[in-house]
Amino acid sequence: MLTTREAVAAALHRDEFRLVYQPIVELSSGKTVGLEALVRWAHPELGEVGPVNFIQDFERSGAIEDLGVWVTKRAMAEAAEWHRAARERGRDLYLSVNVSGYELQQLAYSVSLVTMCDDFQHRCQDLRVEVIESEFDLGGDDVKANLATLRREQIKVVIDDFGTGASTVERFIEVDADALKLDRSLIADIETAPERAEIISAVASAARLAGLEVVAEGIERTSQLEVLLAAGCTYGQGYLFSRPVPASSVPSILDR
Ligand code: C2E
Ligand code: MG
Ligand code: MG
Repeated sequence: MLTTREAVAAALHRDEFRLVYQPIVELSSGKTVGLEALVRWAHPELGEVGPVNFIQDFERSGAIEDLGVWVTKRAMAEAAEWHRAARERGRDLYLSVNVSGYELQQLAYSVSLVTMCDDFQHRCQDLRVEVIESEFDLGGDDVKANLATLRREQIKVVIDDFGTGASTVERFIEVDADALKLDRSLIADIETAPERAEIISAVASAARLAGLEVVAEGIERTSQLEVLLAAGCTYGQGYLFSRPVPASSVPSILDR
């Protein structure tokens, strides 16, 4: 019987993982400003499996570290051409990868990320790491050291799923993050729950004051978009703009 870490190593060896990308857009113009890489597992017996079904298990076993390295390298390799094309047109484009608290707790994490940027000639300032809000609680010295290195190297830090944990303004000041992603659950019924819109508006102004970008996740309807724009939310992503797509479909999204 293989351990999870061995099974993941074997799956990586058989090339069973792949990435899909979802655009992050400027809400006022619909222009794509970034791409978030999301992992999928083409499991030989189970078919395509989404990350919610395996990330936690991978975290418990440490296998997430191996997967995280693969995700980052693959994303940088696939994105190289998109970044080159964007620069040619004088446009900014960033790549966002999801990182688990487990990885952020490994002291070597940030340094190895910088090395990968070097190896793939990916500009550090065009890289963002998304960490789920509650995982900053793991906050020992290694997490702090990693965050400090990322900041020094201009790699941006995003607080993901904001609004699901003990969300506080103190958190984004303490983490010194660059962006805040409002969780899908916060905006799900935003049109019919005026108090939600007010909360979002307040969070957006607080975030702006602290120098953070605000990205709303899971936008599916034009009516949500309208409320978000009125609430002062600048960026967003969701099925309304695009579902996560394979790498081969990214150029057509960037051309839109
Ligand atoms: P996340 O980072 O918050 O990603 C957003 C999730 O919402 C994605 O699910 C995306 O497919 C989905 N989504 C996007 N727009 C919409 C929408 O309009 N409506 C709805 N209903 N859903 C939408 P996915 O791909 O299943 O990923 C789930 C979570 O798994 C991610 O949440 C992230 O926390 C984690 N994850 C994904 N890839 C990685 C990875 O490479 N490493 C790590 N550590 N975690 C990952
Ligand atoms: Mg994310
Ligand atoms: Mg999220």
